[in-house]
Amino acid sequence: MSFDTLLKGGVLPDGTIADIAIANGSIVAIAPDIEAEAGETLDVSGNLVSPPFVDPHFHMDATLSYGQPRINSSGTLLEGIALWGELKPLLTHEAVIERALAYCDWAASMGLLAIRTHVDVCDDRLLAVEALLEVRKQVADYIDLQLVAFPQDGLYRSPNARENTIRALDLGVDVVGGIPHFERTMADGRASVTELCEIAAKRGLMVDMHCDETDDPMSRHIEQLAYETQRLGLQGRVAGSHLTSMHSMDNYYVSKLLPLIAEAQVAAIPNPLINITIQGRHDTYPKRRGMTRVPEMLAQGIKVGFGQDCVLDPWYPLGSADMLDVAFMGLHVAQMTSPADMRRCFDMVTTESADIMGLKDYGLAVGKRADLVVLDAGNPIEAVRLRATRLMVIARGKVIARRERSPMHIAIPGREAAIDRRFEVPKAAASKLRQ
Ligand SMILES: [Zn+2]
Repeated sequence: MSFDTLLKGGVLPDGTIADIAIANGSIVAIAPDIEAEAGETLDVSGNLVSPPFVDPHFHMDATLSYGQPRINSSGTLLEGIALWGELKPLLTHEAVIERALAYCDWAASMGLLAIRTHVDVCDDRLLAVEALLEVRKQVADYIDLQLVAFPQDGLYRSPNARENTIRALDLGVDVVGGIPHFERTMADGRASVTELCEIAAKRGLMVDMHCDETDDPMSRHIEQLAYETQRLGLQGRVAGSHLTSMHSMDNYYVSKLLPLIAEAQVAAIPNPLINITIQGRHDTYPKRRGMTRVPEMLAQGIKVGFGQDCVLDPWYPLGSADMLDVAFMGLHVAQMTSPADMRRCFDMVTTESADIMGLKDYGLAVGKRADLVVLDAGNPIEAVRLRATRLMVIARGKVIARRERSPMHIAIPGREAAIDRRFEVPKAAASKLRQ
């Protein structure tokens, strides 16, 4: 048998060492020592080979717009929304496409090959929607781009948001979004959850709402989202993004809420980089950390995927399309430092987020699409620790990005060496990493 591509000696995320054979854009064999002809044989020995990174929460219409028309001086969510409102009328179709494609280049270079992006539908021109539909088409050979119809200024608070949401879905946007905590009242927020879930149910679509992105412990729209998910039979197709109010909620209430979320199979998408910088801005000290209760949700069997949310936009002045930064921050803020927990943080920017997005062709298994990333790390935890260099990115069986390993050479007298900061975990501890 002959293959298009053969990867030799890679370390899989579960710690096994195997060769991976690719033909016609799919993984056709994973086994030790595959001996066969291949169009290209790539030596990846000692390096981690993982399915690609997945970002389940992003804003591609706003990315790389930092500084336009000015900078967010308070650092708050609300000033960010106001600033985006100032930028919106100045957007052009071409400029949105150009920024989005530039970002997709960054993503491809970082092995980030699936992105769920919210797209603001509150501009009557639907300019960003049309631009991102075009981008979705242009990047389809290397990035799975999923679009969420997002009424940024409120389904009821913004005059045409409701109609525009429907128009966006008619144009081919994939997922129904919302922002209940930004509506004028709690009652409006609740009603928006109900109406948007009904729209999704009628159209057979998934739902992903910005939900309770606030420090107000009384912001409980996630409760309504879980309720409507169950009532409308949307189990497994709904996600609540951010859920930061849960950080501040009463513990007794949360003890009732989490089983309801689990029962409705609603997934959670925290955005650690953004939650840690935007929340708690009205606090003195102690200052709340503003991320939702990740370990507690995982313990209940709730699916959790970490999102990046923002890169260089009205809400966040940093970001680099590196989902390992996101996992690193999430791990720290959630205090997930046991081997199993650290490993889970890697999964939350790869397999778990792919599952939440419903990506059927994703995964490191025979028959799945050959989308892979090779990392300069010995295992997933080391990848998170080092925010490891991407050595190779493969999309649909084709190498779309590559670079050589380049350790730093130190020239200190008596200590000359190539330094890559890799670390061999002692055997007894290593066995725990292979769970
Ligand atoms: Zn967001």
